[in-house]
Amino acid sequence: MNIYRSTLHTLHVPPHEFYDGALIPPYESAARADIIDAALLAAGYTDEHAIEPVSRAALERIHRPDYLDYLASIYPAWCAAGGAIEAVLPSTLAVRWMQHRSTNPLALAGYYTFDLSAPIVAGTWIASLDAASMAATAAHAALAGTLLSYARCRPPGHHAGSDMCGGYCYLNNAALAADILSQRGPVAVLDIDIHHGNGTQQIFADRADVLFVSLHGHPDVCYPYFMGFADEHGVAAGKGATLNIPLAFGCDDATYLRHIDVALAAIRAHGATALVLSAGFDTYAGDPLGGFALTSQCYTEIGSRCRALDIPIVVIQEGGYALTALGDNVVALLDGLTGRSR
Ligand SMILES: [Zn+2]
Repeated sequence: MNIYRSTLHTLHVPPHEFYDGALIPPYESAARADIIDAALLAAGYTDEHAIEPVSRAALERIHRPDYLDYLASIYPAWCAAGGAIEAVLPSTLAVRWMQHRSTNPLALAGYYTFDLSAPIVAGTWIASLDAASMAATAAHAALAGTLLSYARCRPPGHHAGSDMCGGYCYLNNAALAADILSQRGPVAVLDIDIHHGNGTQQIFADRADVLFVSLHGHPDVCYPYFMGFADEHGVAAGKGATLNIPLAFGCDDATYLRHIDVALAAIRAHGATALVLSAGFDTYAGDPLGGFALTSQCYTEIGSRCRALDIPIVVIQEGGYALTALGDNVVALLDGLTGRSR
């Protein structure tokens, strides 16, 4: 199994986020990556491979050019315009009937952001590009014959849409990998983070060749609230290539695995030639941003059922905030994917 990780993510350390009205330290922290790295090492998952910089052309296939320019340039522009040096975090969001575009950096932040949990600091762009490069390199390795890769992306990506950041996400790593893999044939993205992968769904909504399947907390009670319902099936040519499986809070291993089988059946029916696994671990019992009750063993079982698809798999790290269990849970999933028993 190829492993992709680096230390450039440490350039992305936002000072705070707003969470249900409170200004708090971000749950999405550099410590998460350190914990995962230590667990990979201890478990013997050490087959590290070099990361190739992702091309602008590959990014432009899933993100709008003006959004990429925004991410690359907003921090200094924001500071020069009088924004707080701590982070780019808008005061106003361009929602529904207020969408007149502005060139003022203080306004642009609200145009390209859908919530208050994706602050941009000086190193966010470099860290995001690095995470995207891991995903792209892993996808190219899969095209070249590698059966299994794990990209320890940070920041995560599944909430980032074609032209919006939010939910700790800036560039959509999983969408990038899926788009690259789609050169070879139909592809599936299976999103197992507890939060719906709204960005990935939006990016592929009108594409028939990329099936997006997500198991997540029901949006009636779970972030991101406004998307992820079971009646969203895709649009235009992509109709039928989106499958949302919203689940009630409290979901246990048995219930979850029953729905994983539904997801895998859809992936088989799609004729997927490769799988991108958007791997969030905030479904774990006791995750501070979660609501499900999965055990570590469940991740091994998920991995093992995905392995039975018998197609190349690229695992992209998404969420997971129960820090004491995060490392073990990542290893548990990888054990299932590799068929390794301990
Ligand atoms: Zn999440």
